[in-house]
Amino acid sequence: PPSLRVRELAYAYPDGTQALFGVDLAIGRGERVALLGPNGAGKTTLVMHLNGILTPGHGSVEVAGLPVGPDTLREIRRRVGLVFQDPDDQLFMPTVRQDVAFGPANLGVRGAELDARVREALELVGLPEVADRPPHHLSFGQRRRVAVATVLAMRPEILVLDEPSSNLDPAARRELAEILRSLDVTVLMVTHDLPYALELCERSLILSGGVIAADGPTGEVLADA
Ligand code: ADP
Ligand code: ADP
Repeated sequence: PPSLRVRELAYAYPDGTQALFGVDLAIGRGERVALLGPNGAGKTTLVMHLNGILTPGHGSVEVAGLPVGPDTLREIRRRVGLVFQDPDDQLFMPTVRQDVAFGPANLGVRGAELDARVREALELVGLPEVADRPPHHLSFGQRRRVAVATVLAMRPEILVLDEPSSNLDPAARRELAEILRSLDVTVLMVTHDLPYALELCERSLILSGGVIAADGPTGEVLADA
C-alpha cells in the first residue's frame, strides 16, 4: 500500500465551518511531496487528520494500509512523524538525548536498542555530538533538526513537516534540505516557501478552499498556479 491514502475526506469544525470538502490523495513510499495553498485552505485541518487528532466527518485516512481510527491511534502516531513549526513545542527535556529517546521509550524500547535509536536519529540529522546538551543551548536551526530526530527515532512511515524552512538562515536551510533529501522516508511538507518546495519535492499538491486544486510535478504545479 502507499504510505498515505486519503479518500473523500470531508470535515466541518463543531462551529459549522466546513474546512475540507472531499480530499483524495495517495502518496507512495519514498515520495517527497509539498502541500501548498493559501491561509485558510485546510492544510492544518488535513494534517491533523493524518495522526488522528481530528476524526473524519466523512471519508478515510490510511497510513501504509492501516486505517486511522480510535483502535489504531497508538500505531498511527508511531507511523506518522509530525514535526511542528516551532521546535520549542517539541523539545521539553533537560537533554537532547532524553528528548530523542522519549518517543521510542514510550513504545517500550529500552537499553542498548534505545541508545542505538537515539544515536541513529541524531546521526541522520547530522548532530551526533549534541546528545548530552540541553536543547535550549542549541541554535534554532539545530533545534529544528533535533525535532526531526525526535520523530525519526520512532522509525516513522511518513514524516510530516509544518513550514520546515521557516526562520532558518540560508546555511541552515541548505543543511536541512540536504538532510531531508538523504532520508529514506516518505515526506509531506506544508510550506509557503515555493523555492524550497521546488528544490526538495518532486511533487506538489495545492489545497484551496478545502479541495485539492492541483497535484503534479512541482515545476508544473507552480508554473500553472
Ligand atoms: P490552513 O492551515 O490552510 O491555513 P486551516 O486548516 O487552519 O487552513 O483552516 C481551514 C478552515 O477551517 C478555515 O476556514 C479556518 O478558519 C477554519 N478553522 C480552522 N480551525 C478551526 C476551528 N478550530 N474552529 C473553526 N474553524 C476552524
Ligand atoms: P496555520 O498558519 O498553521 O494555518 P492558522 O493561523 O490558520 O494556522 O490557525 C492557528 C490556530 O487557530 C489553529 O489551531 C486553528 O485550528 C485555529 N483557527 C483557525 N481558524 C479558526 C476559526 N475560524 N475558529 C477557531 N479557531 C481557528
